[in-house]
Amino acid sequence: MTMIFHLKEHEFVYGKLESVAPGIRRLTARNPSAFTFHGTGTYVIGQGQVAVIDPGPLDSDHIQTLVEGLSAETVTHILVTHCHLDHSPAARELKAHTGALTYGFGPHGEMTKGESEPVEEGADLDFMPDVRCAHGDVINGLGWRVECVHTPGHTSNHLCFALDDPSALFTGDHIMAWSTTVVIPPDGNMTDYITSLEKITRRTEPTYWPTHGPPLREPLPYVHSLIRHRQERIQQIIQQLTKTPQTVPELVAALYQGLDTRLTGAAGRSTLASLIHLHDLGQVSCDSQPDLNSQFTLTHP
Ligand SMILES: [Zn+2]
Repeated sequence: MTMIFHLKEHEFVYGKLESVAPGIRRLTARNPSAFTFHGTGTYVIGQGQVAVIDPGPLDSDHIQTLVEGLSAETVTHILVTHCHLDHSPAARELKAHTGALTYGFGPHGEMTKGESEPVEEGADLDFMPDVRCAHGDVINGLGWRVECVHTPGHTSNHLCFALDDPSALFTGDHIMAWSTTVVIPPDGNMTDYITSLEKITRRTEPTYWPTHGPPLREPLPYVHSLIRHRQERIQQIIQQLTKTPQTVPELVAALYQGLDTRLTGAAGRSTLASLIHLHDLGQVSCDSQPDLNSQFTLTHP
């Protein structure tokens, strides 16, 4: 397997709007978990008239600290990468405080009962952006300019935001230095995720600011390793299935030995996402719609 060199060292403090680069500040929410690492990093871009990216979870202390930290400035835009509960719910509260409009790709996508298991932070089904952004749309603030990059995969409505000066990409949960991204069907889609990673490899931003964890500098080799890692996982699944038809739990037990038990559910969902990808390509079949209990068979062993 391709090694992914995760960066776990992360310099930050809770409770303070920190300057992390010229024109970029960050406030980290106190919602650490196996999925959020130390917590949600809410970014502020610009000075005086600013945009807030991913206001974060419903946590009054977090929003109060953010609003107080920006009391001498005006929040003109609220940008949301996607509507998981650790990213978007505070947009409503921040909007109430500031009157700024919210920007995002759209509301949460397809939802089925299969998604109710708490394998990630869960979806914020109430989120509806005031302004719906499409791929390539440009948002102009006072002294800053951001391009929207649609990156479905983690969720169907995921956007990255490309700041032009200083050149930087806010990658949300699409690309994180500290961890791989969970891809949970049905809204998460492995085919889209890999395509969205490939889309990013054609970009030139030298620094990525994920919503969780440390920034990623000179990021392209890392992005290529993420793509190779997923492709190798898919090959491993094919290899396992050459032995005998298998279910998701059987594949996870074989492929993820020594995994943190808190992440078994996520590994299962990622494996299912890879199987749905292979199913869409006609390389595997199963008796019904692909789910965690389906038996998957190679169509051309
Ligand atoms: Zn997420």
